[in-house]
Amino acid sequence: MSLSKEEFIRYSRQLVIPGVGPEGQEKLMSAKVAVIGAGGLGSLVLGYLAGAGVGEIGVFDSGAVELSNLHRQLTYGTSDIGKLKTALVRQRLLEINGGIKVNAHEGLLTRENIKAAIERYDYIADCTDNFITRAAINRACLELKKTYVHGAVYQFEGQLAVFEPHSGPCLGCLAPGAENQENQACAEAGVMGPAAGAVASMQALEILKLILGLETLKGKFAMLDFRLSDFNVIELKKRPDCPACGSKAQLETRFAGAISLAMITPEELKTRLDSGTPPRLLDLRYGWEHDLVHIPGDAWTDFEELIKTGAGFGPEEELVLYCKGQSKSAAACRALRKKGFRKVFVLKGGIDAWAEKADKRMLRY
Ligand SMILES: [Zn+2]
Repeated sequence: MSLSKEEFIRYSRQLVIPGVGPEGQEKLMSAKVAVIGAGGLGSLVLGYLAGAGVGEIGVFDSGAVELSNLHRQLTYGTSDIGKLKTALVRQRLLEINGGIKVNAHEGLLTRENIKAAIERYDYIADCTDNFITRAAINRACLELKKTYVHGAVYQFEGQLAVFEPHSGPCLGCLAPGAENQENQACAEAGVMGPAAGAVASMQALEILKLILGLETLKGKFAMLDFRLSDFNVIELKKRPDCPACGSKAQLETRFAGAISLAMITPEELKTRLDSGTPPRLLDLRYGWEHDLVHIPGDAWTDFEELIKTGAGFGPEEELVLYCKGQSKSAAACRALRKKGFRKVFVLKGGIDAWAEKADKRMLRY
């Protein structure tokens, strides 16, 4: 492969950098990269990879653009609301660089289908927002012997790592309990737009450096606190008891520490609320979220007060807790169980699931 005159001009600003040059550019143009998630991290990573001339890019996402995405997902605009991200981002990437190939993979990635989906790509960028998909990526990369770049962002904080699970530490070594955690997507925890932008830029850089054969964060973990401007990089070690890659890993250790929660589905809750003996339904979100939209018949309850004092409820009362997803209510459920509350339930999937399954006309945010 040799570069055309137009390509020399297009890539001239990176071609002149030592370590890149025409040979490096050819490596980029022959590389195949999968980006899993086209949200706050992924949509920006994708733009940089396309701009740099990565030859084949796979976009994996199953969602449509929502109004609440736009403060950080700058690839999309207001007129894109309701449209599928994969199609939009593909169009955008080809507009940035018509000389590359972009594959849009719509649909959910699961533990079962992920290996086949990512096998053709050289490197993977983990830009998802939930632990279940992250764990699936980690295991698939371990089995396929692929190197991947992990990025995550939470409020003002970011984290970044380059994992080569078959030879070095993996996500399971870093956070052994990750597979048991509830999905706390940034929808629930919140995220500052530029914090996502900073982590996304660093993820894109690590991918490009991997392709170019330059020094990367491999085996290391970067913790970035943008609120305090405190940035640390630590060395990671492979754990013999890692639930994913460890030699001593046993099946049951994967489930150790998982606390079973009593869940109630939106459909079950609806039936119960319509019955003669409805449970007390407590909204644990912030007050402004309750004012924006809430499930009729509920009571807003201060989360901190509930977990500290029980907020005046008795241990024999039947309580159903809900939040936006389910992590806040799951935490409160555990705290109340420890206080001797016996009949506490968590609304599975929170108000998001309620809006999807029980009240489709409900305002979503
Ligand atoms: Zn591991």
